[in-house]
Amino acid sequence: MVYSHRRQKATDLLAKLELDALVFCQPENIRYLCGFTGSDAALIVFSDQLVFLTDSRYTTQSNAEVTADQICEYKLKIEGIASQLTSHDVSRVGFESTLPFGFAKELQDQGNADCKWMHLKDELQSLRLHKTSDEIEFLASAADLNAAAFAEVIHMIRPGTKESEVALALEFALRRLGAEEKAFDVIVASGARGAMPHGVASDKLIGTSELVTIDFGCRLSGYHSDETVTLAMGDVSGELQSIFDTVLEAHDLALAEVAPGIALTELDRIAREHIKSSGFGDYFGHGLGHGVGLAVHEAPTVSPRSTMNAEAGMVFTIEPGIYVPGVGGVRIEDTVLVTDDGCRILTKIPKTFSNILLN
Ligand code: ZN
Ligand code: ZN
Repeated sequence: MVYSHRRQKATDLLAKLELDALVFCQPENIRYLCGFTGSDAALIVFSDQLVFLTDSRYTTQSNAEVTADQICEYKLKIEGIASQLTSHDVSRVGFESTLPFGFAKELQDQGNADCKWMHLKDELQSLRLHKTSDEIEFLASAADLNAAAFAEVIHMIRPGTKESEVALALEFALRRLGAEEKAFDVIVASGARGAMPHGVASDKLIGTSELVTIDFGCRLSGYHSDETVTLAMGDVSGELQSIFDTVLEAHDLALAEVAPGIALTELDRIAREHIKSSGFGDYFGHGLGHGVGLAVHEAPTVSPRSTMNAEAGMVFTIEPGIYVPGVGGVRIEDTVLVTDDGCRILTKIPKTFSNILLN
């Protein structure tokens, strides 16, 4: 059932783009369209057929998982795809913009000389954009695992603990509680390291009067969680306190406006303006958020370059941050689902100022 609906979306796209075939190599797209959970395969959507291709390592697995008209085994992926395209005599083929250039070039060289190839990026964003209730359930459960894992390790987040110990404990807790995998390398950035938006946990000891930013997530049934908390280790300087307050306000202001119809650029603007008017405009360099689903970063982006409006069923993050070199940083991130009349915050860890030693 679920796959016939998704297949319809892909064939509608095929018709809209006036293509004879769509070639997918991204594991997330393949999983979405036919259920394959392995990491190496290809899927070709023709108007009347869905052809799944993989190598002998995955034949047994694909027979158990894949919903397609044909499951084919290849020795070389390029040859497998090219022979399908040739035998279907296609003249217009679309492929993902993420396909490596060399691979795409070789594929074109092996196809019909007069075949037209279309490099698709924005056109494919719509495919996984609106989450169904099953997908929302997985995303919410992954977010619940974040909260449960965090509750288990919060006692460790203290001055004197290594950042890497906190990261490892979180990862371990997530896995033990049922996650398939961490969503990305856990970020634990304390003190001045907090100025690095992607400061993966180091051997640094967490210090007193520092802020600690922890950004982590997991994967459950293929779907991801993504959440960031920033905690204070005792009293912090007035500057750090005001950085924290500004980020939390920016987060709350943007979150309050999430509803169908609002431009995603507007959400970004609301948070960015607040940070700017508080004097920290130079220290918020990244976009406000990104979509979350089978990939931890997917459409839609929430940034000054966004082109979409929020629509019910979209799931994305709201994650403003301020990073002051030599001083420290704060990021606060929640993952939200746009609902018919607003939004539902999927991530559960409280984001208010939390001063660990004075609790
Ligand atoms: Zn994150
Ligand atoms: Zn994120």
